[in-house]
Amino acid sequence: MTGKTVSRRQFLKHAGATAALLGLSEAMIPQLAKALEELAAGKPPVIWIQGQNCTGCSVSFLNSNYPGVAELVLNDLSVRYQPNVMGGTGQTAVEAIDQTLQNAAGKFVLVVEGPVPTKENGDFCTFGLGSGTKKLMGNTVPNDKPIAEWIKQLAPKAAAVIANGNCASFGGIPAANASVTGTTPVPKYISSLGGKMPPVVNVGGCPSHPDWFVGTVLEALLFLSGKGKLNLNSNNMSKTFFGQLIHENCERRASFDSGLFLEDWNQADPDMKLCMFKQGCKGPVTYADCCVRRWNSKVNWCVGANGPCHGCASPNFYKELSPLYEPLANTNFAGISTAPDVLGWVAAGATAVGVGAHYLYKQLGEKPKDTAEGGEK
Ligand code: SF4
Repeated sequence: MTGKTVSRRQFLKHAGATAALLGLSEAMIPQLAKALEELAAGKPPVIWIQGQNCTGCSVSFLNSNYPGVAELVLNDLSVRYQPNVMGGTGQTAVEAIDQTLQNAAGKFVLVVEGPVPTKENGDFCTFGLGSGTKKLMGNTVPNDKPIAEWIKQLAPKAAAVIANGNCASFGGIPAANASVTGTTPVPKYISSLGGKMPPVVNVGGCPSHPDWFVGTVLEALLFLSGKGKLNLNSNNMSKTFFGQLIHENCERRASFDSGLFLEDWNQADPDMKLCMFKQGCKGPVTYADCCVRRWNSKVNWCVGANGPCHGCASPNFYKELSPLYEPLANTNFAGISTAPDVLGWVAAGATAVGVGAHYLYKQLGEKPKDTAEGGEK
């Protein structure tokens, strides 16, 4: 999986696409092209391993078909190990990891997809070429190396670690409801190891959006090479992609502000663009740019397809945001207070006074003072 040569013209095209991806102005393209060119000349090695994952984040990334950017990353970085797309198998594949450790210690990026099982010596999730078998909860399993051991070996020698997807970053679905496997998010597991560790950057999403992952890798590499900045939020996610609440930019925000909610799934014509809050939308507590970036090469996104946002980019997904189709409970979430507290919504990024006033009116049994009659049924 090593690179192929790209022309200067192609490179500028890549840089233009990358600048758009990272939300940079066109004026930044020459500077970005230079940085990327130097970066590609060094071919930063990437080792991409998988823990308790469904491979959804890999599939999401590989399904992307925007011109150039994914190609740039796959061709001009040196991806030494990726279970789904690498050509090598068996001994050859594992040797690629060993060689990277020997030749590029302190220089490679470790991507981890899926969290880390820690119970039963981590034997719930293994890969490698161990000999013989061992017992796991009464079953005979191959004596391969647990992902926990791989991370213990690889993380201290990486330049940076990218936890790709909600499961890797925060535990996601595998960590919900007292996982018997001892599911541990990647950053938490790495910090539990102690000692000097590289920075760990989280990418939310179930799955992660290809732009979020590619952009975060590029930002991390540019940062490590001293040519860019890494602007992270309090959850160690890039502010480029996770800097604003979905609710702030949602195309149905006007419906929310006007109290026009989808009351049940058979109620109305989807073209009415009713707010999905009462059907469980988690957009008011989820920081991500789905509504402006959209998915599947900008075709659509969850709310645009008449589904509520499930908050899959949030650190609270899945456990604290479920049931997914129930409205947000009167619970304190990070950055937002209880539902009856209108100012809480405003503090979380809402722009209008009386946000969702009709909804809150119904909850509180009081008529909101600053809204007109007739919005609520
Ligand atoms: Fe959009 Fe959901 Fe906010 Fe309604 S609650 S405006 S559907 S993000």
